[in-house]
Amino acid sequence: MYELILVRYGELGLKGKNKSQFINRLILNIKRGIKDLAPREVRSTWGRIWVPVHDDLDQLLEKLQMVFGIYSVSPVVKTEKDLEEIKKAALRVLHDSLPQGGSFKVETRRSDKTFPLTSPEISKKVGSYLFVHSPDIYRADMHHPQHTIEVEIRAEGAFVYGQVVPGAKGLPVGSSGRAVLMLSGGIDSPVAGWMAMKRGVTIEGVHFHSFPFTSERAKQKVLDICQVLARWGGKMRLHVVHFTEIQKAIRQHCREEYGITIMRRMMFRLAERIALKNKAYAIYTGESVGQVASQTLESMFTINNVTNMPVLRPLVGMDKEEIIKIAQKIGTYDISIRPYEDCCTLFLPDYPKIRPRLDEAEAMEKNLDIEGLLQEALEKTEVIEIVQEEI
Ligand code: ATP
Ligand code: MG
Repeated sequence: MYELILVRYGELGLKGKNKSQFINRLILNIKRGIKDLAPREVRSTWGRIWVPVHDDLDQLLEKLQMVFGIYSVSPVVKTEKDLEEIKKAALRVLHDSLPQGGSFKVETRRSDKTFPLTSPEISKKVGSYLFVHSPDIYRADMHHPQHTIEVEIRAEGAFVYGQVVPGAKGLPVGSSGRAVLMLSGGIDSPVAGWMAMKRGVTIEGVHFHSFPFTSERAKQKVLDICQVLARWGGKMRLHVVHFTEIQKAIRQHCREEYGITIMRRMMFRLAERIALKNKAYAIYTGESVGQVASQTLESMFTINNVTNMPVLRPLVGMDKEEIIKIAQKIGTYDISIRPYEDCCTLFLPDYPKIRPRLDEAEAMEKNLDIEGLLQEALEKTEVIEIVQEEI
């Protein structure tokens, strides 16, 4: 019954050249998001985007709901610009959108001024037709209707729709530049990555891998998480950093209670270098204040000191429960709870320093060949391209 999907996007703050770039990016991402379905033309006119339906409405809706930058979508019936045709279409749309019955009103927009009736006249005639031809579970309500049937009269035809399906909101991925995401196999960092993508950021994943202390399966877990993130972001790249030598050196040369602090300082140094090499200008992490010893404010201060790059922590105000809810919604949770060791838990001291001091951390690092260790880890870094897999 539906021929088209109408895609609405938020226009707030969009001006001039930015706006056309935003729309072009969104169209590109829509095409990428639905590429596993039959090919079709995606067009932008009248400040909206239109996607033709080919007997695949449900799949199409599902895929469009994973494209950031879409505010909402509506399945649309297209008819001749003929009042009788419009009435019949509106009746089908009403019964399909509100199968249980309920209150409705009709609203019309007429950009084709050659159409002989005004917008209020069309609404009134279509509204009374719906009222007369519907069973009595339906009633008209001009003030607080549960449902609004929209009629648009355009040069190329009449468009009727009623259902409004919320989109993922945010901005199209690729419209806000690039950042690295420190991606562990845990619950939090994939959610942080998803939130970065929601704001239009293209993510380069960085994972620190301590083979053979951590297994190949731990790495596979991160690759699987990337696959899920790529459903939202289109594609992504993962840098797998060989972290073993660094961890060994820290264990040998630094006091145990500073192990985590110095390890994380090394992670940030590496993330910064990978970022700059890839024209990325921020580091995202899944940290939240107070979760573990390395996430106290004193700890963050001492760790963060190694980089001037913005370190963005989108989960900072969230409780674990809220983070888990998002992880379940986006599809990373079940992968994250697989029980393989991460390099952070590996050398976890019995009593990590909760308030590590910057001067002490710096003094202890004098025992390490920082530059040599960083270079070696970067040389051994493996770069993996993750493409979107069919769900
Ligand atoms: P997560 O659930 O994301 O693992 P967490 O609550 O376990 O987070 P930590 O282990 O302290 O917290 O890690 C804090 C952040 O540091 C992670 O969210 C992630 O951004 C980064 N991180 C930790 N371990 C790794 C790793 N092996 N590779 C890349 N980034 C990591
Ligand atoms: Mg973790």
